Amino acid sequence: MANSRFEYVKQFEQSDSLLPNTWIVIRVDGRGFTKLCAKYKFEKPNDRRALDLMNNAAKAVMAELPDITIAYGVSDEYSFVLHKTCTLFERRASKLITTIASTFTSYYIHLWSTYFPDTPLSPPLPSFDGRAVCYPSVQNLRDYMSWRQADCHINNLFNTTFWSLIQLGGLDAKEAEKLLAGTLSADKNEILFSRFKINYNNEPEMYKKGSVIFREYELVEPGSHNVAETIDDVAEPVKQSKTQDENDRKRRNKARLVINHLDIIKDDFWDRRPWLLS
Ligand code: ATP
Ligand code: ATP
Ligand code: MG
Ligand code: MG
Ligand code: MG
Ligand code: MG
Ligand code: MG
Repeated sequence: MANSRFEYVKQFEQSDSLLPNTWIVIRVDGRGFTKLCAKYKFEKPNDRRALDLMNNAAKAVMAELPDITIAYGVSDEYSFVLHKTCTLFERRASKLITTIASTFTSYYIHLWSTYFPDTPLSPPLPSFDGRAVCYPSVQNLRDYMSWRQADCHINNLFNTTFWSLIQLGGLDAKEAEKLLAGTLSADKNEILFSRFKINYNNEPEMYKKGSVIFREYELVEPGSHNVAETIDDVAEPVKQSKTQDENDRKRRNKARLVINHLDIIKDDFWDRRPWLLS
């Protein structure tokens, strides 16, 4: 009931609406996943099932929230980009962060058995923290995305070399760490190749580049399985106009979501998909 003598407590709530007309990035990150990896015996350095699970939980979040224009995931984290014109929850940070983190967590748990059919979950259950950051320019946003993908590359090269030394080279964790201390990328590539005949370039794209999810406007033959590769070939630059912007907004709800493992640091990815940042 309104107007009770208790209602004044509502005024203690603080406004937390995020700066208008800025790109909002909400990043969720698995809580204590170092432990969780050990508990469920994730393959090191990359457990494909766990990455597929992350990707499909993120895809489900995007399907429920059309304001998300693109998402990027690596390891136990996912970054969701809300369009700068987004007005969901009056841009209140706590609402946006908790909705995305809890929707993501729900799907992660819901989909778990699809990817780990023989390993049931038990408490403590997986959970994800979240944070929001506003980026005022497309360049800032692109630099954010580049930062995460560069981080993915650096970590994956390190982890691939580290775990090769252990799994194939018979070193223990301390020895591997010591051997890698102070090494540059070129040194790690060299260790991988000379010791284990591993060409880092041939490692799976998902491990090297992480995963990007976005809305694709060009329709592909239904039933086509390898959507990721096919889609990239058919995406053509599109000229944008005011009415087209309006149409895009409507179509965003209908557009299909694709998961891909492309370079998002270079211009090409963005140049070919102008609707993502317009
Ligand atoms: P925090 O709660 O502070 O985030 P954390 O243990 O989750 O703690 P992170 O920095 O987020 O720490 O690191 C996540 C860990 O989970 C890393 O060690 C990463 O290698 C591991 N990890 C995440 N996903 C996978 C995967 N698919 N396969 C193997 N290891 C993974
Ligand atoms: P929002 O997303 O803005 O929170 P909402 O529809 O969830 O929208 P609330 O103000 O949170 O709106 O109201 C929750 C509604 O759910 C209320 O109408 C409440 O009566 C109903 N509800 C919640 N729990 C129960 C329950 N256990 N039994 C019956 N009704 C419930
Ligand atoms: Mg964290
Ligand atoms: Mg974590
Ligand atoms: Mg992490
Ligand atoms: Mg309520
Ligand atoms: Mg409610």
